[in-house]
Amino acid sequence: FICFSACSNKESQSESRSSEEDKIESQIEDILSKMTLQEKIGQTNLRGTSSRVKGELPEELKTAVRNGEIGAFLNVMNLDYVKELQRIAVEESPNGIPLIFARDVIHGFKTVFPIPLGMAASWDAEVARKSSEIAAFEASSAGIRWTFAPMLDIARDSRWGRIAESPGEDPYLASILGKAYIEGFQSDDLSNPTTMAACAKHYIGYGAAIGGRDYNTVNISEPLLRNVYLPPFKSALDAGAATVMSSFNEINGIPATGNEYLLKDVLRDELNFDGFVVSDWDSTKEMIAHGYARDDKHAAELSANAGLDMEMNSKVYENHLKELIDEGKVSLKQLDEFVKHILRIKLRLNLFEKPYIPENHTGNLYAEAHLKEAKKAAVKSTVLLKNESILPLAKDTKVAVIGPLANKPHEQLGTWTFDGDKTHTVTPVDAFKKSEVNFQFVEGLTYSRDKSTNGFEEAIKAVNNADVILFFGGEEAILSGEAHSRANIDLPGAQTELLKALAQTGKPIVLIIMAGRPITITNIIDDVDAVLMAWHPGTMGGEALHDIIFGRSEPQGRLPVSWPKAAGQLPYFYNHKNTGRPAEVDQFVQMDSIPIGVWQSSLGNDSHYLDIGYTPHFPFGYGLSYTDFEYEDISVSKDTISFNEDITIKAYVKNTGKTSGKEIVQLYIQDVVGSITRPIRELKGFKHVSLKPGEIKEVSFTISSVDLKFTNSKLINNAEEGAFNVWIAPNAASGLKTSFYLK
Ligand code: BGC
Repeated sequence: FICFSACSNKESQSESRSSEEDKIESQIEDILSKMTLQEKIGQTNLRGTSSRVKGELPEELKTAVRNGEIGAFLNVMNLDYVKELQRIAVEESPNGIPLIFARDVIHGFKTVFPIPLGMAASWDAEVARKSSEIAAFEASSAGIRWTFAPMLDIARDSRWGRIAESPGEDPYLASILGKAYIEGFQSDDLSNPTTMAACAKHYIGYGAAIGGRDYNTVNISEPLLRNVYLPPFKSALDAGAATVMSSFNEINGIPATGNEYLLKDVLRDELNFDGFVVSDWDSTKEMIAHGYARDDKHAAELSANAGLDMEMNSKVYENHLKELIDEGKVSLKQLDEFVKHILRIKLRLNLFEKPYIPENHTGNLYAEAHLKEAKKAAVKSTVLLKNESILPLAKDTKVAVIGPLANKPHEQLGTWTFDGDKTHTVTPVDAFKKSEVNFQFVEGLTYSRDKSTNGFEEAIKAVNNADVILFFGGEEAILSGEAHSRANIDLPGAQTELLKALAQTGKPIVLIIMAGRPITITNIIDDVDAVLMAWHPGTMGGEALHDIIFGRSEPQGRLPVSWPKAAGQLPYFYNHKNTGRPAEVDQFVQMDSIPIGVWQSSLGNDSHYLDIGYTPHFPFGYGLSYTDFEYEDISVSKDTISFNEDITIKAYVKNTGKTSGKEIVQLYIQDVVGSITRPIRELKGFKHVSLKPGEIKEVSFTISSVDLKFTNSKLINNAEEGAFNVWIAPNAASGLKTSFYLK
């Protein structure tokens, strides 16, 4: 009976949804039939404005909206402007088509959550979903119904500044998170005025910039595109992502913004996308500098014929589409397609019926419930990388709080936080004061890049009275994000020197890193007793770290990217291929021990560096807990499975420590022999497991040949007969291994 009513409910829900969609499609046709060419072109025009515009709303904008020349705006932060522009569009433009207001609401609007790379370290879809639901609720109260998020670029190079905004290096984890973000921003009903249309970006390959240098050239083979870079986008589109942003980069010689194969064949024909594609900021025009378009008009022609629906900022559509249509270089049919895609999303947002912010919708900015979620996300994102039995600290431990990021309300928010007000930020120092921790605070360095040693003496003095040193270091927000790549990713400034000086005191040191990327710490790791990676943890970062340090919460994050030993090792990713000379262990010959004149190959064959070996400092999936876990008895339900048959892989996980703890149990596979070579491991599942001391739980995963599919060089997407290795593991570099056969 229960199932019957639930099922019929679902059926009636989907029936009403499809009749709603039918209604939208006939509205689109109706509106389109009344639009002039100018209005149609207007819909493709996303006008960028500066959020700093002050004073009167510029007449030029009012007139353009009145004439139907603009379809959407980004960065209009003056609420009166938003209301007035929308009023003009709805009441005075020829067909009353509402505007959409867009903004980069990347990891929170007012209440700021950890940076996306930090969110990815939570490995928790519900935390991601909730964060974007809250972001949408807050931002929509400012009239923002479209966000340029989530960023779904797989990132394998920590030098790249935008790794901070990425879901990390793994396509499976990124796909789970991508779906969750879409569900959070859009809910299951985009017509709800507290939701925002999401934008899956940057399509595609932006994270594969050569050398980690932002905007740089990208070469991605077709199998790599489909096996690694595309899955998170597919997942977001399957979850109903309303829009997609084309990326700045060229890919295999053709800029993504003018790439017909990617925008039409893949996105529309294969992935069935029915929303609209927006270019990135000026990326149409940038095709000129790429050496792909001759001039603005040519850029407009190439993008339009490639299938780019809406153009951000550069005005190449606004200025040239009419002429191109008159000359027959772009068809009216093509323009009509763009307008349909755009109107479809405006209708799904219900902007025609409810163009304005609802009267009573305040957004509950910084509501207690929002702050609570932000704190939870920060706790779940924090990764414990090292702990020599020092953490957690007893409540009455006397601590010296040192370092440039212990009390920097703005910096801990991270990149892309235009709206989060730093006065609401709880820094570690704030949190320590509030809970009456016995501490003394001396910065030692005034900001992360500070090279001056002037403050060292005072810092060292503060340590005299302390039992433990808590050093809050890392990078300021500005050192990661767009156009902020780094060639060296060590602790900047004199932080390493200060840590070395503090280590001389003999007092234990806990290094807490706030940064937009993994930071190479090989030269300092032996001088510190514990390391916590907090990323840029957002508004509630201080409270989250307080709770972790003093044992009220345990660090629960696991690395969503491999943590390199040196920048020279990058790009590095766990799901790499074997060479013909695989390294079983990280045995490498020390550079200094090679006798002069000895032929190198007699000294070692694997794919290592002479000075740092082969493996990363910490592998993908890695993270410690305050307790210990052991894995036992892996087994498979069958030794051989046929296509479409399920297989269950199970193992036992035991808490062998003294406190309760949460483990993220990970499932990896390796396709041993393939029609193209396959990665040494690929993540295929994970589960969060809570265990009391001494408790053992069975953890099982069920997969089928569908999960073993990949695309080969003939573009065949299939699972292939043969042997598979499988691991149930705490990270990508260890775990219990068994195997099965697919026949
Ligand atoms: C970024 C996008 C962003 C856009 C609008 C660009 O510079 O690459 O990610 O959404 O600006 O602010």
